[in-house]
Amino acid sequence: MDLVELVRKAGVVGAGGAGFPTHVKLNAEAEYLIINAAECEPLLQTDQFLMRERPAELIGGILLASAQIKAEKAVIAVKGKYGREIAALRDTIARMDAPVEIFELQNFYPAGDEQMTVYEVTGRSVPPGGIPLNVGCVVSNVATMINVFEATQDIPVTEKYVSVLGDVNEPRVIKVPVGTSFEECLAAAGGVSIPKFCIIRGGPMMGGMVHEHELADMYITKTDGALIVIPADHYLVERADETEIQMLNRARACISCGYCTDQCPRYLIGHPLHPHKMMQAVKYAKEIDESLSEALLCCACGVCEMYACPMGISPRQVNLYIAGKLREKGIRYQHDGSEVIARENREMRKVPPHRLISRLDLGSYDHQPLKEFRDVAIDKVTVSLWQHIGAPSEAAVKVGDAVVRGQVIGNIPEGKLGSTIHASIDGQVVAVNESQVVIARGHA
Ligand code: SF4
Ligand code: SF4
Repeated sequence: MDLVELVRKAGVVGAGGAGFPTHVKLNAEAEYLIINAAECEPLLQTDQFLMRERPAELIGGILLASAQIKAEKAVIAVKGKYGREIAALRDTIARMDAPVEIFELQNFYPAGDEQMTVYEVTGRSVPPGGIPLNVGCVVSNVATMINVFEATQDIPVTEKYVSVLGDVNEPRVIKVPVGTSFEECLAAAGGVSIPKFCIIRGGPMMGGMVHEHELADMYITKTDGALIVIPADHYLVERADETEIQMLNRARACISCGYCTDQCPRYLIGHPLHPHKMMQAVKYAKEIDESLSEALLCCACGVCEMYACPMGISPRQVNLYIAGKLREKGIRYQHDGSEVIARENREMRKVPPHRLISRLDLGSYDHQPLKEFRDVAIDKVTVSLWQHIGAPSEAAVKVGDAVVRGQVIGNIPEGKLGSTIHASIDGQVVAVNESQVVIARGHA
């Protein structure tokens, strides 16, 4: 069986982002395979843990993927400041005599945005509205490559490494079955240490906000990598809770200073994205049509609103609002084919993470010392059938079925983009609907 089929069968999806099915990504040819190991969102530590603890599987996956796409170069793009991780990788590369290069990234946000990573490694700007393959690159990440390696050992994706950080008693990296409740993840980190809290699912810049009352229905998926507990009255919660009306009203406070555009990473690699113009469009109730299609180029990194804007308003949300309206109208961005050249002042405008952390009021969590790693056993999982980009998977089991870990419980619908889903523990199926399968241990 070839690698693409093995990866499809193992249900591998992009582990650090939206969950694009990896078997589709690997079904291409490219000059570069670039592994995004920047872990550029503030506070996160999961990829660093994996680079230290599982470098052989990581390099193994890179070699397989690189051969599959016929890459001339396989490059791990990792921040130069990750000394221990780079040492572990170099040692493993030497031991395996692997043709894999290390590219040391500067310490800036968002070094891990895939278009930034491509630019840093190759000096090529992905065309506006394009993908890295347009400039000869396939980009993947650390956990995904480990999953690719495991796919060849007949191990499907049933577990996740997750950093549980912030206001918990024992911040640590844990390994849990896919479908583990957030509540059990918090318990594995010694429990929450403050009375009223929210959880950032992912990184503080691009992650989602989960309120305490929503916790009971939250379960780990293949794309989760971090849970960060913060106080319920934190500034980031306030920002996340802003309604669309409030966001649009506050856009009127825009003073057209243009700082959001000056700092926008996509603008700086040469894309025609000008968030300050989007603010003007909303402020003056301009019709949302093709003339605003550049809003579709926004990657939602948040630099404009969390770092650049002196007025504390939300150009990212305005961009996303306009992009949503454009998609409703079926409008796409059309690149005119002109050469894309990075702006001259790009280097000066890179955002230093320590300043970002300070603006986000997260300084007290920076460089949290971790307690020992914990591999957590779970008795009940709720496995989503839609953990990826594409169509939801179709349940392949029914209530009462006995299942073993690694057994297929969800199939990709015929002819659709999607991902295979597997049981993450041994047990019995106790509930199934079109969106999830619940498995309880002790019944198999
Ligand atoms: S969120 Fe803001 S800074 Fe980031 S790409 Fe979008 S417009 Fe640019
Ligand atoms: S930085 Fe803020 S105030 Fe300045 S143009 Fe952008 S949204 Fe308006």
